[in-house]
Amino acid sequence: MDEFDIVVIGAGVAGLSAAATAARRGARVAVVEKLGAGGQIMTVERIENFPGAVEPVAGFELGPAMQEQAEQAGAEFLLDAVEEVLLDGPARVLRCSQGEITARALIVAAGSSRRALGVPGEERLEGRGVSHCASCDGPLHRGKTVAVIGGGDSAFDEALILATHAGQVLLIHRGESFRAAKPTVEKVSALENVRICLNSTVEEIIGDNVVQGLLVRDRITGASRRESVDGVFVYVGLEPNTDFLKGKLDLAEDGRVLTDRFMQTSVPGVFAAGDIRHASVALLAEAAGDGATAAIAALNYLGEGFEKARAAE
Ligand code: NAP
Repeated sequence: MDEFDIVVIGAGVAGLSAAATAARRGARVAVVEKLGAGGQIMTVERIENFPGAVEPVAGFELGPAMQEQAEQAGAEFLLDAVEEVLLDGPARVLRCSQGEITARALIVAAGSSRRALGVPGEERLEGRGVSHCASCDGPLHRGKTVAVIGGGDSAFDEALILATHAGQVLLIHRGESFRAAKPTVEKVSALENVRICLNSTVEEIIGDNVVQGLLVRDRITGASRRESVDGVFVYVGLEPNTDFLKGKLDLAEDGRVLTDRFMQTSVPGVFAAGDIRHASVALLAEAAGDGATAAIAALNYLGEGFEKARAAE
């Protein structure tokens, strides 16, 4: 059983920022991640709002760069899935698929997963035309018609990417106004190969082995129609990855972790950072800031114990 000063769950922007900050200050830090470094940004082709990114940066470049920076600071990376956390005793114990890890302080930065639409055909055709990654799967639909579902920043950012590959992009939104930033909405609306359908809900994704179309209902007239599409990109929001925390610490009604402004959760020595945190604005700059704040708070929590442990080594 490995014991660390601080264990970070999740190698997204928040987790990597926390790991680099804590390791740079001399803590023995491990990051436990089940996939790869970067989290949600690994599927994002153009990030324009990260501080200092004068030119758009690709998420699949930023993620590994942040991992390298954290490793250079001394953080260790463990590719493993956390199945359970035990927060009652003096140490935080993480039961992972490959064994147990203990830490004196824990930073939860496990992020979110894309919400499913929950309509017939979606699960069956996942990876066969149903996608959540425009930069990965957009080139497969060159010259064809694809649909983007959602009215938030993700839907509009990804519609911009898809419009460079597909012949036509159908943006389908259930409401009549958008949550996405106005300048992006204007940019997408001005594209000749984008058609926006408001007040429309997707009732079914149609196709035998691959996506062939959508059943779309007009919420005003109640009429349903079939739209022929070759791909469907679903961006209908995020669900926090907090199932493993239920009953262990206080969660908000939306399932996100409640913290104070120092990222301290309801359990002393357990911190949360990034879009898993209640009231997060889900911007990358915030995730990086959350991670740094959580790291400093965790070091302060360890306090003298941390200094003594380091001196004894
Ligand atoms: P979001 O902001 O929660 O938007 C989700 C969209 O999906 C909304 O338009 C919502 O409609 C719609 N929706 C939800 N459930 C639906 C359903 N069952 N059927 C049909 N439509 C449904 O999600 P997001 O766009 O993934 O963004 C998540 C967070 O990340 C946000 O805070 C966003 O600002 C941030 N983000 C920022 C950037 C950036 O800064 N460039 C990029 C990506 C994400 P209603 O509006 O009717 O509820």
